[in-house]
Amino acid sequence: MSKDGRIWLSHTGLEVLERCPKCFWLQYKKGVRQPEGIVSRLANRFDAVIKNYFEKYRVLGQFPPIVEGKFQGKLQSPFVEKYYFRVNDKYGFWGRLDECLENEKGELTPIDFKTASSDPREKEVLEAYQSQIDDYVFLIRENKYKVTGVGFLLYFFPDLSEELHDGFPMIMHVQKLTGNPENTAKRIEKAIAVLEKDMPDSSPTCPFCLYRSQVNKIEGV
Ligand code: SF4
Repeated sequence: MSKDGRIWLSHTGLEVLERCPKCFWLQYKKGVRQPEGIVSRLANRFDAVIKNYFEKYRVLGQFPPIVEGKFQGKLQSPFVEKYYFRVNDKYGFWGRLDECLENEKGELTPIDFKTASSDPREKEVLEAYQSQIDDYVFLIRENKYKVTGVGFLLYFFPDLSEELHDGFPMIMHVQKLTGNPENTAKRIEKAIAVLEKDMPDSSPTCPFCLYRSQVNKIEGV
């Protein structure tokens, strides 16, 4: 619960709901999260480095040379990073953009940075990435800004090189996606419906809950 008394949902939270309604419910209603385990924070560092790089060129009114020719318009300036949408007195939905383009009509296009461990040019777009663009278009639109209705994923993929001493080569791949903000509205509605009821059942295939019930059985709980 936040200071304004609302439960603020996010894209990441809604993704938890896709995986398991019970975990989602526990997270938002009780503040209990599934333990994270050992995870790499390398993608976070990449995001921070790329954002810092883009920021330098925003103030110059230019695109960073690394993406020259890949986008139309200009980087939004000043950049509006966070968007909030108050659904009702109890719930809100918020999101934080990595970057945003603005065209000559003042329409906005969100960009999300992705660090890829396999070649993104050969892969299908993950459903969660599509939902992310849906969510950004939804949030920008609900905040009364004009939108183009599309969004970009900008992938960074480390390339092979025998001259790493000259710098680490990166393949940059741009994926354009059409945002469907109506999907976001439906997902928010579904999330609220789950939170308004009692705790849902565990997912029968989840290894964590399975582990817990097996241990409980052994301990006679
Ligand atoms: S089944 Fe249990 S541990 Fe697994 S995701 Fe759901 S609540 Fe979390």
